[in-house]
Amino acid sequence: MTTALDPAAPLVFDTTELRGAGTMMHIAREIPAPEAYGLEAVFAVPKGAVLDLDITLTGVSEGVLAAGQVEAVAEGECARCLAPVQDALSVEVQELYAYEGSVTEATTEADEIMRLEGDLLDLEPAVRDALVLAMPVTPLCRPDCPGLCAECGVPWDELPDDHVHETVDPRWAGLEKLRLAGNDGESK
Ligand SMILES: [Zn+2]
Ligand SMILES: [Zn+2]
Repeated sequence: MTTALDPAAPLVFDTTELRGAGTMMHIAREIPAPEAYGLEAVFAVPKGAVLDLDITLTGVSEGVLAAGQVEAVAEGECARCLAPVQDALSVEVQELYAYEGSVTEATTEADEIMRLEGDLLDLEPAVRDALVLAMPVTPLCRPDCPGLCAECGVPWDELPDDHVHETVDPRWAGLEKLRLAGNDGESK
């Protein structure tokens, strides 16, 4: 947290009115993602995609607690057949931000408890981390996607059931097809 926060950034909030424990501020709005979250071109919430925030900021003695929900649509391609995949993510965010000069700030590291900068709270790291954690390691168009034919690269879904390649001895074609169907189509 060495760079100064931009008060105009869409995920930076001025919490001045929360000084004094017990006060609350509700953020219910849609904002465009300031940058892509995730692995671009693989699976990510694209830059500019809608982040639907429903977050409550609560003033506590040591700082501000941010808690609530964020929804966003991530997109990318199926790891097996490369078809476009979309996934609606809905994640919980809960993060404590310590006041500068508070006991919490003095007794914790910046990577375990977030800090306020003056009265500015940067919600972006918490939102980004929650969304990225909710993304599948291997995005699939459907759980049983058969992938691509290893010989011609055409999706099995678009090929006839008896699709085989001439290079395979016809006596073994049936077995070969079973092998291809059973290996998730990972062979390139
Ligand atoms: Zn697929
Ligand atoms: Zn083929």
